[in-house]
Amino acid sequence: MFLTHLDCPRCETRHAADRPQNLCDCGSPLLARYDLDAVRAAVSPADIAGRGADLWRYRELLPVADPTDVVTFGEGWTPLLPAARYGAHIGLPNLLIKDEGLVPTGSFKARGAAVGVSRARELGIRHVAMPTNGNAGAAWATYAARAGLRATIAMPLGAPTITRNECLAAGADLLLVDGLINDAGRQVAAILAESGGMIFDASTLKEPYRLEGKKTMGLEIVEQLGWRVPDVIIYPTGGGVGLIGIHKALRELRELGWIEDRMPRLVAVQSSGCAPIVRAFEAGARRAEPWVDAATVAFGITVPAPLGDELILDAIAGTDGTAIAVDDAELLADLREFGSLEGLLLCPEGAACLTAARRLRADGWLGAADEVVVLNTGAGLKYPETVAAEGPAPNAD
Ligand SMILES: *Cc1c(COP(=O)(O)O)cnc(C)c1O
Ligand SMILES: [Zn+2]
Repeated sequence: MFLTHLDCPRCETRHAADRPQNLCDCGSPLLARYDLDAVRAAVSPADIAGRGADLWRYRELLPVADPTDVVTFGEGWTPLLPAARYGAHIGLPNLLIKDEGLVPTGSFKARGAAVGVSRARELGIRHVAMPTNGNAGAAWATYAARAGLRATIAMPLGAPTITRNECLAAGADLLLVDGLINDAGRQVAAILAESGGMIFDASTLKEPYRLEGKKTMGLEIVEQLGWRVPDVIIYPTGGGVGLIGIHKALRELRELGWIEDRMPRLVAVQSSGCAPIVRAFEAGARRAEPWVDAATVAFGITVPAPLGDELILDAIAGTDGTAIAVDDAELLADLREFGSLEGLLLCPEGAACLTAARRLRADGWLGAADEVVVLNTGAGLKYPETVAAEGPAPNAD
């Protein structure tokens, strides 16, 4: 294994990686660091090309020492699909969709769970707990069951019903909370305090390895383009772990010398019903203020107070990217239009990115020649209500 330690990006304190860790004493999330010189000497892009079609093909850049600790359902290596018809329609002929709907449990959260649960098991953790907007809890419950770990999941009542049922099916202890993810977080904090250290806090960014799983989306985009970066990557941002992870992946690849210096511009998409990052970005602030009365159909991005706000804002600013908020009505219309032109049923969070792409093209921030990758972070099938409301179209004959 090439993992050496954990770094605090805020106060630069170094932390040991050989025992369970949560936040730095200063309150910042921690980032996993690798001996990249040793990785470069040990493996090349050509070696990786011949490996299995899952995220473990990047094992030198992942934090699991013993292959027998890997907990997997074959997650990763999702298709990067050209969407030329829809792309031409919105003035972006080089539009690509990375479809995370095909990942086990139906969302990219399985990437974080696969790596986070594998490392937790390796470090001797027996029981994990976390608040969730649904998909993360479903993924962690599923991978924890496969690893023989216990999982306690706290979820808002408004989260997609299927994610609740997935937790129960995987034998997790499920707590339904009348509120939002931050309210669920308070319940988890109380449970952790009572457990006397027997339960590990696996909340978003409070443990460092879920991010490592999510960064593999960035590694895959680059490898699938032939070890080349696109011009722009558009990501639906809730906790922001995927965006921070993609940014981290790109920086590691650059340090390895596997890609050129140029970075893709990273775009954080939020809902106008919950847009703390967009508001902070527009104000030029370093931190985001909590969003009051958050609500959107794109439930996965309903995160009023993301812990990784500084890292998200750094990823955007450091790549000349931007942040944009879109309305539910727009994203639902784009979801349907995309389905009718390309056939793929997106999740609402993925559709929000198409709305962002369309608007950024219309106002000139995106150019017609830009190669744009949109992350569809989950399967549309997990959100049947987004397409259920209308009956069949009247027969034209
Ligand atoms: C969790 C989630 C998001 C947001 O992911 P972050 O990396 O936490 O910002 C987006 N889409 C879906 C479908 C999700 O489940
Ligand atoms: Zn610190």
